[in-house]
Amino acid sequence: MIHQNLIIGFIAAVFVSVLSRRLKFLTLSGSIAQFFISGIIFGLGGIKWTVPIFTFFITSSLLSKLRVNKNKLVENFFEKSDERDCLQVLANGGLGGVLVILSRFYQPELLFAIYVSSLAAVCADTWATEIGTLKSQIPVNILSFKKVEQGTSGGISLRGTAGALMGAFIIPLSSLSWIGTNFFYFVIYATAAGFLGSFVDSILGASVQAQYKCGKCNKITERKSHCGKETSLYKGFSWINNDAVNFAASLSGCFFFILFNLWLKV
Ligand SMILES: [Zn+2]
Repeated sequence: MIHQNLIIGFIAAVFVSVLSRRLKFLTLSGSIAQFFISGIIFGLGGIKWTVPIFTFFITSSLLSKLRVNKNKLVENFFEKSDERDCLQVLANGGLGGVLVILSRFYQPELLFAIYVSSLAAVCADTWATEIGTLKSQIPVNILSFKKVEQGTSGGISLRGTAGALMGAFIIPLSSLSWIGTNFFYFVIYATAAGFLGSFVDSILGASVQAQYKCGKCNKITERKSHCGKETSLYKGFSWINNDAVNFAASLSGCFFFILFNLWLKV
């Protein structure tokens, strides 16, 4: 039975990956990574595990496209374009692949809730960025409260924070059909875990994430090259890029859920 499900899962994954590539949601490497992750998640987790990651993926890809059309300027600051690549896909969904495998052996309901919380964190972070940068506005650094340019890692705004809350909420909402009787606490915990996870993302972005300075136009950016020239490290650690920070945020979503669940079990 499990073999059959895996085969169906990977066949479905081919369609999804090809479609994502054609719609320019993903780069080639991104669609290959998505093929493996979604094959494992569809195959082992079925529809229950698939709906939340799809909710994240589709809404975030659409928001990215919308933002690029509305506010092209901010794109300059981001390390990557609106097409997600392999490392981005792994940073956002890799943990889900590991959790679905673990759920075959150990506490499937708890692991599902942890999975939803990790996705809530990455979705909160993505929605915060996309909704926060939909229009021009001036964010502040989460640690120093100094004004920073839009798109700078660690910058927060009211609109972005509202986006984070909505992004964290939509993931547990999408999984409601598969939750037992404690759905009220499940939604509250996973939303809170995701929302807090997006703050972990901003704090790491403001402190340890690599930021570079362009020697030509003096702009601070996440990109390793700017204005056709190589940039130099301005702050943070060169090995901590946006993907590493996203992965840490998804881990923190798991951690916050486990913490809440110790207090009152779902
Ligand atoms: Zn430049």
